[in-house]
Amino acid sequence: MSLLEVSDVRKYFPIKSGVFFRREVGRVHAVDGVSLSVEAGETLGVVGESGCGKSTLARCMTGLYEVTSGKITFDGDMRRDVQMVFQDPYGSLNPRRRIGSIIADPLVIHREGTAASRRERVKELMALVGLNPEHYNRFPAEFSGGQRQRVGIARALALNPRLVVCDEPVSALDVSIQAQVVNLLKDLQTELGLTYVFIAHDLSVVRYVSDRVAVMYLGKIVEIAPGEELYERPRHPYTAALLSAASVADPDRPRDRVVLRGDVPSPISPPRACRFHPRCPKAQERCTVEEPLLLGDGHQWACHFPVEPGEHLRSAEPGLEG
Ligand code: SF4
Ligand code: MG
Repeated sequence: MSLLEVSDVRKYFPIKSGVFFRREVGRVHAVDGVSLSVEAGETLGVVGESGCGKSTLARCMTGLYEVTSGKITFDGDMRRDVQMVFQDPYGSLNPRRRIGSIIADPLVIHREGTAASRRERVKELMALVGLNPEHYNRFPAEFSGGQRQRVGIARALALNPRLVVCDEPVSALDVSIQAQVVNLLKDLQTELGLTYVFIAHDLSVVRYVSDRVAVMYLGKIVEIAPGEELYERPRHPYTAALLSAASVADPDRPRDRVVLRGDVPSPISPPRACRFHPRCPKAQERCTVEEPLLLGDGHQWACHFPVEPGEHLRSAEPGLEG
């Protein structure tokens, strides 16, 4: 059994309108039929542009959001064993509370130990993430961005979780600090035997940390594969376009940049059948009537006309009208 299994999960947010009688006028299809599994000890990277549903999926995985439909199963106690590291180390720490008490929060919520033993545990956690345990009584404002993210990591580790979902853990940090925090997460994984879901829009960071990578587009996973395989041989045209734009592919074999036309369509009324068809350089009639399913073994993609090895997508070819 996998550590975490996500089966056909949907998360829709109602959009309400009206002054006196608020009624639902539409729904944001933030996550729309996602299935995947996370194996113990691995890092599963999830990439996609902002608004593709990555953070919503993360919050469903940690139980912070109730799913609209579908199922999430975890081999353990989800409330204790799944923890989250948030994107914004500024916004996620209460500025009026001392670091020590912030890190102790999960221990207090789960009624772990005594005040004295919690204090010892917090100091231990601070040392583990590279913070000076003597700074226990300081406030978040006295720390740099990177240190604040270390506080967020210490808090996430307080209960010895098995799975940590990291939602863009370094994207709010200076580039010079990002590698330190990413390497800390990697070291902690080895030391504590952690499993990660690592969400980011930065493809090179995801490549560096992940064993497998899932690519999201408009609420769906369009491709999932072992990291190297995905970066070397993307099969979904969207993945190929993302990689070409980020130039994280092998520098010895540069890809031509594929420019997608238009913007990401609204998740309120996503395009029918293949959601990528209005922007896809390979779209054909079939893509507008039949939804491609995520198929394959190990390397899975959801596309009727996948990119062939060695094929170069061209940006000039317009997609079909939605
Ligand atoms: Fe493009 Fe068609 Fe594949 Fe969708 S199914 S990604 S439109 S080729
Ligand atoms: Mg996000």
